[in-house]
Amino acid sequence: MVTFHTLEEFFNSDEFSKKDLSNCDLSDLDLSSFPPSIWEGFIFYKTNFTDTNIKFYPHKLKYNGLWWNLECCNFTNCDLSYLTAKDLEKVSIQGSNFTNTNFHINSLDSVNGLYGVTFGDAYYGRELDKYANRMDIETLFLNPNLSFSSTSLLTMLRISDHSTDVSIAKILDDIDGVLDIDKRQDGKLWKFWNLISTNAKFSIEEKVSFFCGGQIQSKNFITLDLSEFDYDFLNHFVFVQCRFQKIIFPNSKIDIINSIYSKAEEAIFPNITPSSWNKINKKRLFSNVTFYKNLYVELGRFCNGKCQFCRNQYLKLCEYDFETIFENLHKIYPYLDNIVIGGGEPTLLIEELKKLCHSDMNDKITVFTNASLHYDGLRDLNAMVPLNISRHSMDDDENNKILGVEALTNLNLRFLRASHLKPITLCATCFESGLDSKDKILDYIKYYSEEIKINDFLLQTLHKDLNTPLSNDTMLPINNQIFDFVIDKLRKKGYEISIPIYSTGNYKLIIAKKGDIHISFKQYTTKEELESKWYQSPKRTFDLSMDPSGNLYENWHQSTGKVLINKLH
Ligand code: SF4
Repeated sequence: MVTFHTLEEFFNSDEFSKKDLSNCDLSDLDLSSFPPSIWEGFIFYKTNFTDTNIKFYPHKLKYNGLWWNLECCNFTNCDLSYLTAKDLEKVSIQGSNFTNTNFHINSLDSVNGLYGVTFGDAYYGRELDKYANRMDIETLFLNPNLSFSSTSLLTMLRISDHSTDVSIAKILDDIDGVLDIDKRQDGKLWKFWNLISTNAKFSIEEKVSFFCGGQIQSKNFITLDLSEFDYDFLNHFVFVQCRFQKIIFPNSKIDIINSIYSKAEEAIFPNITPSSWNKINKKRLFSNVTFYKNLYVELGRFCNGKCQFCRNQYLKLCEYDFETIFENLHKIYPYLDNIVIGGGEPTLLIEELKKLCHSDMNDKITVFTNASLHYDGLRDLNAMVPLNISRHSMDDDENNKILGVEALTNLNLRFLRASHLKPITLCATCFESGLDSKDKILDYIKYYSEEIKINDFLLQTLHKDLNTPLSNDTMLPINNQIFDFVIDKLRKKGYEISIPIYSTGNYKLIIAKKGDIHISFKQYTTKEELESKWYQSPKRTFDLSMDPSGNLYENWHQSTGKVLINKLH
């Protein structure tokens, strides 16, 4: 480090003439009277500006081709309050120290990363939650006076470098440090850990897996009362193959597939009787029952496709009112697990669709499309939200023929996957003369998972019901047994097969899972089967729908069961 004691010494130095102040200590100087223009083209790196009160504009410094560098500098006791978010766009402040620096917090929105940055007392108690995923544990420890929610603390733990060359002792130190901070803030993380770890023994490796991966595997819990933890918090953890005798969940969407229950029904599902499943009302939408609440939104009913199994034409006409859809979705979205935007074909209303996908609801949104939008449009959508793409055949022409529209080709599907955007689920309806045999279905899964690298599939049997007949009534569903054969074959190939998950949409889902691949088999059930099985299902789906006028229904057919949204609060 080169130290300058006088201004004369500094202005006559090589460092000044070469405009490179890397590793210079300027803390003895008063630079407050020099205009920002004199620093044009300079390099600031590991430079100590403590007490100098320097004034400069980062975008006038030397550009390194990727960002403007203010890394590892010390601005303690400087006044940088004149810098706006725009001045800090594409600026990296990693490792810099802003103790007692007058630095507008909103300016952080546009800086490159916040790793190793020190914020001083000026930030005491500030909620920096929205920056948590741009900080690491070291930054957290450097700034014990900042405040973070328990879920942000978890985020920091999970994005921290815990690769194999980091010692387990260091990871445990990080975990304990985070628990201390959470406890000081009276957060939920340490309470949750206390509860879990006093109910069951965790090895060191399991502790790491709990905090850094969110997984609670193969544990025996006798009584586990999670009612004080909210939905958003618990959503960060997954119970896998655990055994519960009595468990109380505050809300749904904890992955409890493959877990085992014994005598737990009364404790878990206190308000529901088997015969009341079709009377969904305010109480149930907001109840403490483990439902997976799924909303299907018909953005519009028009479609450019002509699928012979389409039921849209049988739904009663209603006016299209996007503003009401948007407003009503906002009211109910905190209570939902999943929002599928479909139609008709939702991409025909692309501006409205984008508005939804850009909104704060987008973490729950999936778009269901026939993939007839042009490739660039689909790629932009997939950058924002997961897509469910209708794909009824492996052959492009055959698929187009079934859909009645020109859809994304296999080649473009491959490009889309190679862009590594949000997940894509391929959805196929299986009917006679389409995907109608065990071998055809297995070939479909093999081709798309191995060649196109798609991991998620939803296969459903063609369904005929009295409310909404098919447009071509000569189409025949496949025998349900074909799915049983496929599932059996997958089980033999090492897939884990879930317990059936029953839905108020009159279907059951069986999920086959191996590594990253998830294949959901959706089979329609009779009302009688649903009534007797739904209650015993460990995880149950509650299917709501919204029509193009923004009306909410407690079912999919919408002939009954309208929910009065304004009365929900
Ligand atoms: S793509 Fe969907 S909405 Fe369009 S015709 Fe086919 S089934 Fe109906």
